[in-house]
Amino acid sequence: MVEEQLAARGIVDRRVLDAMARVPREAFVGQEDQKRAYLDMPLRIGFGQTISQPYMVAIICQTADVREGDRVLDIGTGSGYQAAVLSELSGDVHTVERIPQLAERARERLEAAGYGSVDVHEGDGSLGLPEHAPYDAIVVAAAAPDMPTSLYEQLVPRGRLVVPVGGPEGQRLEVIVRSPEGPAITRSVPCRFVPLLGAEGF
Ligand code: SAH
Repeated sequence: MVEEQLAARGIVDRRVLDAMARVPREAFVGQEDQKRAYLDMPLRIGFGQTISQPYMVAIICQTADVREGDRVLDIGTGSGYQAAVLSELSGDVHTVERIPQLAERARERLEAAGYGSVDVHEGDGSLGLPEHAPYDAIVVAAAAPDMPTSLYEQLVPRGRLVVPVGGPEGQRLEVIVRSPEGPAITRSVPCRFVPLLGAEGF
């Protein structure tokens, strides 16, 4: 997975490649998908949701440029896999999921895989998690119609927000840096995520 799907497609950050080599992806999918865990695709995790394709997880982590000691907020816990990879990059990860059953299952799977330090919260992540703000990096694994303003406001100066922005049929991954002049937006790869629901989502 790391060589063929990530390194070969332009993931160059060694820390991200090493983190993804360490996290056991099979620990975050169901029994029926054990043999498919490392395939180049998203997989169903129930409740109409998916664990993201490995490449999307890698590019989000690389773009967010997470360093040890960074406080990180992950929106859309889903299976917990992205949160586990982030926690290999920094020991200070909060994650928010709106579906209580997914949040609970992710909490159990993270704990069982040795990532019990990840703080799993239940709620509307489109509004961020103000009680633990500010964050050095915020990543969103669901598609937003526009840049979620509450998330931007919970960044430190020079903090990075990585979020797929666009319609339900397809989006562009955007990286938005908090700067004195306002949001500095760069567009990256095309992508297709499940919708971000909630106050600042669809
Ligand atoms: N990062 C996940 C991918 C999950 S898919 C993984 O590695 O498995 C996106 C997730 O975002 C879904 O679980 C969905 O329920 C959740 N989601 C959608 N809108 C949300 C919101 N407003 N707040 C929190 N989670 C949300």
